[in-house]
Amino acid sequence: MSHTVSTPILDLLATILSGDAPTLPSIYTAAGGTPAAGGETFDSHDPSTGRLIARLARGRAEDAERAVASATAALPSWRDMVPQDRGQMLMRLAEVLEAHSDLLARLETMDMGKPLSAARGDMRGCVGGLRYNAGWADKLQGITVPLGPDFVDYAELEPLGVTVHITPWNYPLGMAMRSAAPALAAGCTVILKPAEQSSLTTLAFAELCRVAGLPAGVVTCVTGFGAEAGAALTDHPGIDGITFTGSVATGRRIGEAAGRNLKPVVLELGGKNPILIFDDADIDAAVEVVLDGAFDNCGQVCSSVSRVVLQRGIHDAFLDRLVDAAKGVTVAPGMEDAMIGPLVSAEQHAKVMSHIESARTNGARLLLGGGRPAGLEDGWFVAPTIFADVDPASAIASEETFGPVITAFAFDTEEEALALANRLTYGLVAGVFTKDIDRALRLSRSIRAGSVWINGWFIGGLQAPTGGTRDSGVGRERGEAGIMNYVALKNIGIRIRR
Ligand code: ADP
Repeated sequence: MSHTVSTPILDLLATILSGDAPTLPSIYTAAGGTPAAGGETFDSHDPSTGRLIARLARGRAEDAERAVASATAALPSWRDMVPQDRGQMLMRLAEVLEAHSDLLARLETMDMGKPLSAARGDMRGCVGGLRYNAGWADKLQGITVPLGPDFVDYAELEPLGVTVHITPWNYPLGMAMRSAAPALAAGCTVILKPAEQSSLTTLAFAELCRVAGLPAGVVTCVTGFGAEAGAALTDHPGIDGITFTGSVATGRRIGEAAGRNLKPVVLELGGKNPILIFDDADIDAAVEVVLDGAFDNCGQVCSSVSRVVLQRGIHDAFLDRLVDAAKGVTVAPGMEDAMIGPLVSAEQHAKVMSHIESARTNGARLLLGGGRPAGLEDGWFVAPTIFADVDPASAIASEETFGPVITAFAFDTEEEALALANRLTYGLVAGVFTKDIDRALRLSRSIRAGSVWINGWFIGGLQAPTGGTRDSGVGRERGEAGIMNYVALKNIGIRIRR
């Protein structure tokens, strides 16, 4: 078991926990952490209080250039390392991460707002994800191709090269690790661009990679805004692949950049995920699942339950029970560790509140919440909110809200339920609650989504592929599919002379 270590960057990050607001040297290249080339900074706030907690380097093209140069220089030694040794080094990194998970979890809570125990859970997920992917490092076998007696033909899996990972603010280190871990295991170098709202744990991770002994430049980090630091990285001709998790609008922009730059891209975008609950469902289980699926991480999850689609026979009784259960959801600053914390930022708060207002003016029936919880005047809090009788064509029923808001709809037949599920252009996840196995399996095939969960929610994990169809994205992450994003087949053909 590793022990915690002290380094200048980790020490500065730790001062945030005791109330300081340091200026962080957060452009992290082979030279370690430095200020931005242009000397500019931007502010990071605690969403529970609105308080300034850090100033970070505002990266632009010159900083992206330095990161790409570092990642390119580091590539040959990392790519050519004996795969088993590379896997062992990542196992060692997992140990270092685990030893620092208390610092990482506290930083995540302060920076992003989620309850501390949820942040601790995220860190366990990061450590597990790193170990899972480390195990792949020496198992990437290619193929042999039968071309007859005159040839030997085989294809090796070679690492893609320098990969850029642009991540969102809802699971800051979790999302970075989801793609960085397989990229590293495959032998790629990694440039991280964390979301400007919550960059601290990604910066800490870059420093912990150095602590664990990864060669300088294998993991770099450019903090800053999407249109500046992010776009400079995706447009850079020296990169070999892009992975993005975030909004549909930004996903389209990154897809366009990848097209211009002719680089492979993985896009995991938003959802407006339906759960279809039939009259024969286990209602107690369904209430519990909807509550967790909708309010976990304050609804700031691409795969949140968003549209609760209820068969008429249980519609009223289900909503009565859901509202009762939701009244028990506690809301408090992340460090107080209630069930949910604040939204991440003032912008996100304004967006969620505008969705709630538009639902009201569209005639939806408010059953619970609808605004700031009593007693939480500072910070970006929204109470768990439930709307019934929602017009399926209204904005709240069709646009991603990314907050603790449930919209409920009624249906009579399976065909109507399916039409409601498929009516939007999103296609990330969907759920079916029923005891009828035939119906569950029929729907699992006809719902247009990357994942369909039956009688549960958030089913999956490190090993199960995840990703969207249609506007919810391109490509799959996690499991074997996740590691395959970071390798390319190289075919080698040999002529045998008789
Ligand atoms: P949100 O709108 O919820 O803040 P985004 O999808 O815009 O979410 O942001 C997710 C990530 O994408 C962030 O790291 C952000 O800085 C980055 N980003 C935003 N715009 C661009 C862009 N044009 N190019 C590259 N990255 C971007």
